[in-house]
Amino acid sequence: MESKLNQLKTRIAEIQDLRKAGALLSWDQQTYMPPGGAAARAEQLATLQKTAHTWFVSDEIGQLLEDLETEAASWDYDSDEASLVRMLTRDYRKARKLPPDLIAEIARVTTLAFEAWTRARQDSDFPLFLPHLEKIVELNIRVAEALGYQECIYDPLLDQFEPDMKTAQVAAIFAELKAELLPLVRAISERLDRVDDSVLHRPTDVDKQWQFGLEVIKDIGFDLERGRQDKSVHPFTTSFSIGDVRLTTRLDPNYFPTALFGTLHECGHGLYEQGIDPALERTSLDDGASLGVHESQSRLWENLIGRSRPFIQHYFPRLQALFPEQLGEVDSETFYRAVNRVQPSLIRVEADEVTYNLHIMLRFELENDMLEGKLRVADVPEAWNAKMQEYLGLVPPNDRLGVLQDVHWSSGLFGYFPTYTLGNLLSVQFFDQAKQEVPDLLDQIASGKFEALLAWLRNAIYRHGRKYTPGELVQRVTGQGLTARNYLNYIRTKFSEIYGL
Ligand code: ZN
Repeated sequence: MESKLNQLKTRIAEIQDLRKAGALLSWDQQTYMPPGGAAARAEQLATLQKTAHTWFVSDEIGQLLEDLETEAASWDYDSDEASLVRMLTRDYRKARKLPPDLIAEIARVTTLAFEAWTRARQDSDFPLFLPHLEKIVELNIRVAEALGYQECIYDPLLDQFEPDMKTAQVAAIFAELKAELLPLVRAISERLDRVDDSVLHRPTDVDKQWQFGLEVIKDIGFDLERGRQDKSVHPFTTSFSIGDVRLTTRLDPNYFPTALFGTLHECGHGLYEQGIDPALERTSLDDGASLGVHESQSRLWENLIGRSRPFIQHYFPRLQALFPEQLGEVDSETFYRAVNRVQPSLIRVEADEVTYNLHIMLRFELENDMLEGKLRVADVPEAWNAKMQEYLGLVPPNDRLGVLQDVHWSSGLFGYFPTYTLGNLLSVQFFDQAKQEVPDLLDQIASGKFEALLAWLRNAIYRHGRKYTPGELVQRVTGQGLTARNYLNYIRTKFSEIYGL
């Protein structure tokens, strides 16, 4: 008779096939699908997702996991098999707690909410989105209650994206960040004229931008035999298997950092996916440890490498050769300072490294207040603007540039935003560890050599996929838990130098 473990693996592999087929349909929707395909595509995706969910929460899977639980307790904790049973048991318990009618209602409400949000944002009309957002808050409260919690209603929502992370821990980290970042932003705001980034706004040929991006991702180790890059309005990365990882990017003729840093960002996600141990293929462990850990890799390649002096010193001559008219008279140091310019701004996705996390804190605080009933949804725009004034010294002139800017709430996602900040913190923690273990790392980067860094990341992080929780992974890699210290040191050192503080 086939072992229980093999039976479980077979069933999970089939479920993963459905999920990955869904990923392919979404990728196509965002890259090549003509608009006429939208309605049918929504049905196709819904069918695949519903089927995958039904198969996963079946009694059969539950029985197999229960039968294996005792046996698995004696297996090596680090083995693929023990991790598989551990993670699946966790996923299964969570998935079973959500009633199917609640899942269906979320799908219905968010489809309508997304449409309303698109129009509301366009016309800067919050009242149009308000009834939808009210329903979404209500549904999130029901989800939190179904999943269960002890301290904060936010805990189970956060846990969906960052397993084991608690709201109180995030709040403590944000308080620590805020205490240092607010004065830093104020100090820099008084010296904004120290950095001029006008050189970045000179028009450049988009085909050359595309070509340069491809050169860079090949150099840093993205395998184009096991992946490709396409264009999309909102850049993203997805994977259909470890041997087929898709990046997308966008090109702006009047601001070429959009393409370069967007490409590096998505490539960081893609390197993670390509680096997962092939033995984990079709097990559901062939994924990142969490959204925060995934984001740590995109941020590491985008900011800690891409916006670093060694990287820019290496690539600047190549950029000058590609864009002689725009960059011929510029030096590498001016360019380095330009791509690291700090500017308090209204839009999160355009924020620099210093101000970015303040945008996240604001959202985290508003989400908590809405869920706890401390803030009426109708009053969110006012609360948003007050926090923008407090944190960044700016008030959005309209809700399109304020509370309506992000897609997340319309998609039903509460508890998601903090993972961006966790990713920023982890990127520095991991990179500091890599520098300790590979002493000449920065010299290697300055001469365009990335193999040692990639090998270190693969060994420490990528190959494990989702075998460990984020907390376990950080502890294994750095010997300590998540901390804001490394990140704050990095920011203080880098930007004090640039702004002469
Ligand atoms: Zn990302």
